Amino acid sequence: MDIRLGDTVRMRKPHPCGSYEWTVTRTGADIKMKCLGCGRIVMLERPVFEKRLKKITARLEETENGEESEDR
Ligand SMILES: [Zn+2]
Repeated sequence: MDIRLGDTVRMRKPHPCGSYEWTVTRTGADIKMKCLGCGRIVMLERPVFEKRLKKITARLEETENGEESEDR
């Protein structure tokens, strides 16, 4: 799963506050994300995160002009 900083993600299960949506604030071996419902920040190991992830609902700076921004 290609997860990026600033992505808005939807999880399979809701946070206790009732929100399914989070914004990714850090990526790496661990994923840090902020709940859009209550603002709480949670850190998950990447495999755990990927298991709980349902889908990416929004991505910052989507390439809209046809330019490839992925050159690595
Ligand atoms: Zn919450």
